[in-house]
Amino acid sequence: VWANCLRVIKANIGEQSYRTWFEPIIPVQLHNNVLIIQVPSQFFYEWLEEHYVDVLKKSIYQELGHEGRLEYSIVVDQGNGASKPRTVNIPTARKAAYPTPLQQDNAMAASAMTASARNVAAAAAAPVSPDKAATLRNPFEASKAIDRNYLKSQLNHTYSFENYIEGDCNRLARSAGMAVANKPGTTSFNPLMIYGGVGLGKTHLVQAIGNHIKATTPDKFVLYVSAEKFTNQFIESLRSNAVQDFANFYLLVDILILDDVQFLSGKDKTQEMFFHIFNHLHQAGRQIVMTSDRPPRDLNGLEDRLLSRFKWGLTADLQSPDFETRMAIIQNKMQQDGIDIPPQVVEYLAHSVNTNVRELEGVLISLVAQSSLNRREIDLEMAKQALRHIIEEVEAEVNLDFIQKTVAEYFSIPVDLMKAKTRKKEVVTARQVAMYFAKEHTSHSLKSIGHNFGGRDHSTVIHSVQTVSDLIDSDKVFKGTIQELRKKFAGK
Ligand code: ADP
Ligand code: MG
Repeated sequence: VWANCLRVIKANIGEQSYRTWFEPIIPVQLHNNVLIIQVPSQFFYEWLEEHYVDVLKKSIYQELGHEGRLEYSIVVDQGNGASKPRTVNIPTARKAAYPTPLQQDNAMAASAMTASARNVAAAAAAPVSPDKAATLRNPFEASKAIDRNYLKSQLNHTYSFENYIEGDCNRLARSAGMAVANKPGTTSFNPLMIYGGVGLGKTHLVQAIGNHIKATTPDKFVLYVSAEKFTNQFIESLRSNAVQDFANFYLLVDILILDDVQFLSGKDKTQEMFFHIFNHLHQAGRQIVMTSDRPPRDLNGLEDRLLSRFKWGLTADLQSPDFETRMAIIQNKMQQDGIDIPPQVVEYLAHSVNTNVRELEGVLISLVAQSSLNRREIDLEMAKQALRHIIEEVEAEVNLDFIQKTVAEYFSIPVDLMKAKTRKKEVVTARQVAMYFAKEHTSHSLKSIGHNFGGRDHSTVIHSVQTVSDLIDSDKVFKGTIQELRKKFAGK
């Protein structure tokens, strides 16, 4: 009967989904029109229920008539390999209540067991198919997943609360972070969402949370992962048929720190997976910490149901540090790295570099490098010299803007269109001309020019500059256009 059901299912869904979600199922029993199938985990069951309930129903009705029912047996390891069936009826199972955290813990532990058991079995089976080999090589090391202590947190120990300078710019975020670090999963700050611009200390703060928890409760499984890495791991697991292992791994985490969630924008499948993991962890009282480069309301391309989850906890922002905080950050950094800089230079730096903390640190590092290279003490003159290029860059940016505006106006197109993805002839020409002038009149690198034209790469810029040069040589009218435009930039 199950084989016939599978045929119906296979005809209705994709090959990959079929292999991932139906091949691992084991038919257990058929009695009084009730078919019992065994699935490897709670998560697996819920995924089936959420995504395949209709096709499952269809196949069961086709095989057993409308009296037919399907029950799941979810593998829960009892320590002796025995499995405890959990009965669920298809017509009523949809949106079944989440299991209690305790049940869930068991289910999670069980799924790790089954995943690793499967891997071990796969390893024993010879010859190993390339597919299986990929599963074994999967980055989550499911076979170790049973013992959480093996698991790496991916934390960088240099980030702590002690060296995270407090200021008005980060007071709320920092204290919420400390509350979470002291009582993960039990405050109302779950999830904790930290947002703020680049270089303002998001990664530092959430790493500090992780490090603090790890230091105070070493048996907790803390995991730091960037949303980008999460996505890549997920894609890899799809590719190697190890989605189950992927999910199982994440369900073991006690404190999940997901950095830069904006990266999930538009990646629907990954979001879906994260949504499930989120629900499970949250339900089980595990702590979730996230960062984003913008407030949740501006996270376009993220599903509403995921965004609405973020509101369950606390959202706190990071602002640019004020002068006093910048002073304190520099002084702290000097102390930490054993750097000696005269007070008036510190003050000058704190005054001049007001963009973000990373930039501030960058200047500091380059000063130290120069000073040791030239065997010269760091002084005001050197600092001014070091900052010249930053200030020039700011000016160059104004120029780039001006060039884009002027060229766009000349060709009667909106500036935005010039940065957009279109290949329309007039737009392409305008874009190439603007890039040409950007190269000629600013100190921007090719990479930076490309970046400022809607994120294109440096080879596109090279190509544009070449095309324009060629046209100047071959086309008199075009040459006139360029000359006219060049006048507008003369003296700039
Ligand atoms: P983001 O993740 O927001 O882009 P990071 O956390 O990587 O920023 O911070 C950039 C650099 O600035 C890091 O080296 C970090 O240690 C430092 N930094 C940011 N904020 C602070 C702060 N309040 N105190 C000390 N160092 C900070
Ligand atoms: Mg970061």
